[in-house]
Amino acid sequence: MAPTGTGGEAIKAKIDSLINENTVIVFSKTFCPFCNKIKALFKDLGVEIKVVELDTMEGDEGAAWQEALIAKSGQRTVPNVFIRGQHIGGCDDTLKVHTQNKLLPMIKGEAEAPAHSYEYDFIVIGGGSGGLAASKAAAKLGKKVAVCDFVQPTPVGTSWGLGGTCVNVGCIPKKLMHQAALVGQSMSDAPSYGWNLPTLPSNDWAGLVENVQNYIKSLNWGYRVALKDATVTYLNEYARFVDKNTIETVNKKGKKRTITSDKFLIAVGGRPRYPNIPGATELAITSDDIFSLPYHPGKVLCIGASYIALECAGFLSGIGIESSVMVRSIFLRGFDQQIADMIGDHMEEHGVKFYRGWVPTEIIKLEEGTPPRLLVKAKETNGDETLEVEVNTVLIAIGRDPCTNTLNLESTGVNTSAKSGKVLTNESDQTTTPNIYAIGDVAEGRPELTPVAIHAGNLLAKRLFAGSTTLTDYNKIPTTVFTPLEYGCIGMSEEDAIKKYGEEDIEVYHTNFQALEAALPKRDENKAYCKLVCVKSEKERVVGFHYLGPNAGEVTQGFAVAIKLGATKNDIDSTIGIHPTTAENFTTLNITKSSGVSATKTGC
Ligand code: FAD
Ligand code: NDP
Repeated sequence: MAPTGTGGEAIKAKIDSLINENTVIVFSKTFCPFCNKIKALFKDLGVEIKVVELDTMEGDEGAAWQEALIAKSGQRTVPNVFIRGQHIGGCDDTLKVHTQNKLLPMIKGEAEAPAHSYEYDFIVIGGGSGGLAASKAAAKLGKKVAVCDFVQPTPVGTSWGLGGTCVNVGCIPKKLMHQAALVGQSMSDAPSYGWNLPTLPSNDWAGLVENVQNYIKSLNWGYRVALKDATVTYLNEYARFVDKNTIETVNKKGKKRTITSDKFLIAVGGRPRYPNIPGATELAITSDDIFSLPYHPGKVLCIGASYIALECAGFLSGIGIESSVMVRSIFLRGFDQQIADMIGDHMEEHGVKFYRGWVPTEIIKLEEGTPPRLLVKAKETNGDETLEVEVNTVLIAIGRDPCTNTLNLESTGVNTSAKSGKVLTNESDQTTTPNIYAIGDVAEGRPELTPVAIHAGNLLAKRLFAGSTTLTDYNKIPTTVFTPLEYGCIGMSEEDAIKKYGEEDIEVYHTNFQALEAALPKRDENKAYCKLVCVKSEKERVVGFHYLGPNAGEVTQGFAVAIKLGATKNDIDSTIGIHPTTAENFTTLNITKSSGVSATKTGC
């Protein structure tokens, strides 16, 4: 209907006043995908907009408004976007203005950012957790983005697809193999629950590996599709810097090219470190190899005593593989040591052998085979005694080195830590070269965890391309160690809290307990544990949350919000529990360590 007569004039006047009163106004239709895309763009940019949905108006009113808009702007379609009174156009016009870096300055009434002449706005080196998140977020904000991801094979030749450490050789296969061990635990519990299992079946290593690897391949494919959908260019090429705006890449056929970009993100992660001892690189494997090992590993020795060594020894033992761990000093450095020792004791009771206070000095092949027969020579960490251990597989997990030494960072002015080799950044993840950023495992001082890298990648893209100022908060990050008895924690260990606040200002509430699911099989009595570390002078604010027991990841994630918001002991006491769960133990903690009362528990 044409906006004629006084009605039409009234609509025109109303449209004019809406355009004048609102910095950004979008005339839209609720069902239109292009309108939704533009509304989502402004939302991602953090820009408040006025939206007028023409299809929700009464009767013919919407059609009359559309006629008035044609008369005003010459544009028939929606979305019809106006900024500061100026007609911008439809979906493509608005995206084009944004791609030219003009949209935000226009909205803010600022001078436009100078245009650049590089091929890309943003190149991300490393297609792992952090790099994929940042690249997709930047592309969603209208930027021209490429991701270079290339996997250098391990010394024994293992390689994998797109997605980085987490999906291929980290969190995902680890959790699946941990689950395989939990299924085994459930099967040995089954007779107590009335299941007549004739004998406990054995685990088929080749079948497990095949299923895990097939699942990973489906994820690799999903990541490629997601990059394509987000219009990110995927380059399966290894990158090194030529200068601060140029990289040289090489593909698996050795073909080289140079590409330029206005901004770069280094998200190359890290790779397992090998000890400098004879036989290590030739004869040992790492977490990069174990999840796709084509033959049964036989008897395994894990070297190292942190997340990876303990998790791997835990799931290997849980699926019936004879496993041992060579521990240089303590378990789980940096974690609450009371709980670290409880984890060690529990694993030992469930069949994992520990060589505590030893370091390897040499690995020798005794006999060829798949698996081979290997001899590990070791010496005391603090003494001269020697030890020899015969196994089939040596799995080294003594930490990870950042992939920075092949990036030619010297050509860019990006500084790295002399000690760790990781990239130095400021709180905005910016390196010492202003157009180059670094996130994830490769950045100095950042916890090596997938959700940390993803969070940092998303927020960085929004800061770089959407005017956001929100920084990643690297404090109170929850984490879980997936050992047979899982351990989740947030914040400080008891010993760190005492160091920071003083013993007299710390109160620890704790309880041992038996998870209900372990009661009928009569296992792990009083092995599960909850502990809250509280600061007395701050109304018993919880600065350390520690949970040892089943489903630790789920329990800990749930409490993470409360702890991040500064929950006190009283807040947790006043929360009603869910019965019967293991997590409810936190809501009824009343034994303090200072009281000296035993924390062991009986009954419901
Ligand atoms: P990555 O995911 O490592 O990705 C970096 C990518 O860059 C890789 O694909 C690499 O090949 C590529 N690359 C390197 N150099 C170049 C180059 N020059 N050119 C092109 N490409 C390059 N975290 C958790 O939160 N929970 C867990 O349960 C967990 N379990 C883990 C278990 C194991 C065994 C391991 C090893 C790690 C685990 N982690 C876990 C840690 C988690 O996997 C990492 O923190 C996370 O993957 C880091 O992401 P990122 O983006 O920094 O790097
Ligand atoms: P870490 O750096 O955490 O620990 C290294 C371990 O190896 C320590 O126990 C250390 O002992 C020992 N070690 C170091 N050098 C030697 C040596 N030369 N000989 C013998 N032992 C040695 O490494 P990880 O490889 O376990 O894990 C890397 C990171 O991956 C973790 O920090 C974590 O962030 C991430 N990750 C996360 C997981 C999760 O979220 N569940 C699971 C797995 C990994 P010492 O204490 O004496 O120094």
